[in-house]
Amino acid sequence: MTQPVVDFRSDTVTRPSAAMRQAMAEAKVGDDVYGEDPTVAALEARVAELMGKTAGIYVPSGTQSNLLALMSHCERGDEFIAGQDGHAYKYEAGGAAVLGSIQPQPLENLPDGSIALEKIEAAIKSDDAHFARTKLLALENTIGGKVLPQDYVLEATALARRHGLATHLDGARIFNAAVASGKSAQKLAEPFDSVSVCLSKGLGAPVGSVLTGDADLIGKAKRLRKMVGGGMRQAGIIAAGALYAIEHNIDRLADDHARAKRLAEGLARYDGLAVTTPQTNIFFVNADAAIGSAFSDWLAANGILVSGRYGEQRWVTHLDISDADVDRALAVAAAFFRR
Ligand SMILES: *Cc1c(COP(=O)(O)O)cnc(C)c1O
Repeated sequence: MTQPVVDFRSDTVTRPSAAMRQAMAEAKVGDDVYGEDPTVAALEARVAELMGKTAGIYVPSGTQSNLLALMSHCERGDEFIAGQDGHAYKYEAGGAAVLGSIQPQPLENLPDGSIALEKIEAAIKSDDAHFARTKLLALENTIGGKVLPQDYVLEATALARRHGLATHLDGARIFNAAVASGKSAQKLAEPFDSVSVCLSKGLGAPVGSVLTGDADLIGKAKRLRKMVGGGMRQAGIIAAGALYAIEHNIDRLADDHARAKRLAEGLARYDGLAVTTPQTNIFFVNADAAIGSAFSDWLAANGILVSGRYGEQRWVTHLDISDADVDRALAVAAAFFRR
């Protein structure tokens, strides 16, 4: 008998629950390009409130949210500083450079996800015709599943402000960071001028992100959203799923973190596997050279899906992973090492 597939590739694979679909079916909608969709407006206000910002804008993806933030903070010929491993630099097809004519200045991420303060300071360019104008520091929390230390965030954003830079947080998984650290999302968001939040990751909504900031910044982002084709009409249908996710699925992220911990501990028992210790819902596994890809192949053949990047496995727990799914993954791993 074939077992159902268990999908640990990403927390983006979640599907809307029956209750979420019900909320979507009943959503009050209007033309949001005319500013007439009450559900979109409610979602934007709610996420802005949770981030302690005055305004929000609903967009189709986290990539578009970061792009609008970068383009709202920076003009053509400006520069933003970001982590070498940061999503806004590495995983967004170079959008800021291509579409915004904004130069990225990537800097190495340390093992805890931070960027050394001295490196940031040294990368901020003086007012000189040779240089692009350094305008923005963009950080990410969580990054690679790790919670950025808040003391570091306060120092880095203070440094940026001292040099007249704006600050942006890619908070795609800010609620994971909040639940794991016991600090409110508002507290984590406070040091930043703008914060992008994904609703379609572990929160389980089908579509969208909200960019939050002050009214001036979000006003700029609204024009840019139209420019890049992100103005949506009766988007309340999908915003209702996102609102449902905000109201119901934040506290339960702790379950995803507990399941990631149990999985990682179970896998770490095997000598041939090097397993990172999860702080939230993401961890990484490297198999010994002697095992090579045999472990990944075995998992795939037994319906356990993980993502593989650069020879490393990424395991992600989420709303659609149960305790039984964790048990099954551990049983499949145990069978591999018994062979
Ligand atoms: C997923 C993700 C994004 C982008 O979201 P999409 O909706 O996939 O475009 C941005 N930043 C981080 C940290 C992410 O994990």
